Amino acid sequence: MKTLAQIAAELQGYDPKALSVADANAFLARLVQPVQGSETLPLFDALGRVLASDVVSPVSVPPHDNSAMDGYALDGAQLVPGQPLTLRPVGTALAGKAWTGSVAAGECVKIMTGAIMPAGLDTVVPQEFTSTGADGSITIAADVLRPGDNRRFKGEDLMQGSVALAQGELLTPAALGLVASLGLPTVAVYRRLRVAYFSTGDEILSLGEAPREGAVYDSNRYTVFGLLTRLGVEVIDLGVVRDEPALLEAAFRQAAQQADAIITSGGVSVGEADHTRTMMKQLGDVAFWRIAMRPGRPMAVGRLASDTQDDGRSAVLFGLPGNPVAVMVTFLAFVRPALLRMMGSTHTPVPLMRATSTEALRKKPGRTEYQRGTVSTAPDGSLQVCTTGNQGSGVLSSMVQANGLIVLHHGQGDVAAGEPVDVMVFDGVI
Ligand code: AMP
Ligand code: MG
Repeated sequence: MKTLAQIAAELQGYDPKALSVADANAFLARLVQPVQGSETLPLFDALGRVLASDVVSPVSVPPHDNSAMDGYALDGAQLVPGQPLTLRPVGTALAGKAWTGSVAAGECVKIMTGAIMPAGLDTVVPQEFTSTGADGSITIAADVLRPGDNRRFKGEDLMQGSVALAQGELLTPAALGLVASLGLPTVAVYRRLRVAYFSTGDEILSLGEAPREGAVYDSNRYTVFGLLTRLGVEVIDLGVVRDEPALLEAAFRQAAQQADAIITSGGVSVGEADHTRTMMKQLGDVAFWRIAMRPGRPMAVGRLASDTQDDGRSAVLFGLPGNPVAVMVTFLAFVRPALLRMMGSTHTPVPLMRATSTEALRKKPGRTEYQRGTVSTAPDGSLQVCTTGNQGSGVLSSMVQANGLIVLHHGQGDVAAGEPVDVMVFDGVI
């Protein structure tokens, strides 16, 4: 495991006090590793988990050449350009059963979608392209069919022995179906990642506590719970921890003992009078970043050791800012990609989309800005986006209204109304 200083030395121009979003992510990609350990699960339990080894196909899918249509199977060599073809049906091939008769020149076999192609036949004419004569023969009009049409090949989806799904693949509904199509009832997946969370700050109230002047209810705990649960990790909720060194130390040590990663909110800004930063520094190898972004400037990252000194265990720390919107934005920008990597996923980042900004946006070059936006389809069918209300980093309702983030990149300046911007749509992400 590399120390923060070693990672810093690998990165060109690393400055913890003025870090771009891209540089912060490059750092995190070096800090975190996939977890050790896997388990074998029945398919119904594996949704959202990450494959710990390649799934090699034990069979070909489909296992035989088969028909893509209801119609008649024939030997395509009999088709002559510019001429109709009349054939006599000599049997019926049903799906799920091989038709084993033999077919001579001038003959064909009625066939259903998915039925195995009878030996020697390579083409299917759909029912609606044929006319039936009084003697039961069928006629295919000239030039409506080419040899090989409407036949699916054996192994067209997957060949026996090939990698159907690679290690690191996130098991989506389609992936589960694909594994099932191979006849495999179980898959090997990485063990579930354990992530501990607590809120810090003396002004933070737990639900159920009586309101008091200057205090706010802890919303971050619920937001982060939701984000982590959607990601499919095991959440260890450590509640709100008051600003007392002994309590903070106990919470950090317990979290490092039980979890692979620790997320906290609050107490990482420079001006903070509280003990959170001090305790992080004392218990681990932690850097305090100022990231060129808005919202979400301060963040602590590093590793914390568990309480038993000699077991070598440590957990990755993400000390997020306290503001509720900043928590969500820093989670999406940094924590989510890092946790996916720890889960063993070889995911590619969520693609950004282009949408026309319906309004002018003020933006200072030299930092990445995330504005809450509503993406919709314009009358002409293109994507458009407008911002949602007050963009203050404490205004969680702006995040509730939004269905995505407008991402204004590091070098970008003001945006005029009608100009295109990048958007990250939440659907499928949170
Ligand atoms: P801090 O980063 O600790 O300076 O907090 C910044 C702002 O976020 C302050 O107004 C805090 O009251 C608020 N805040 C911090 N933690 C939470 C929390 N868990 N839930 C809601 N608001 C919070
Ligand atoms: Mg605070």
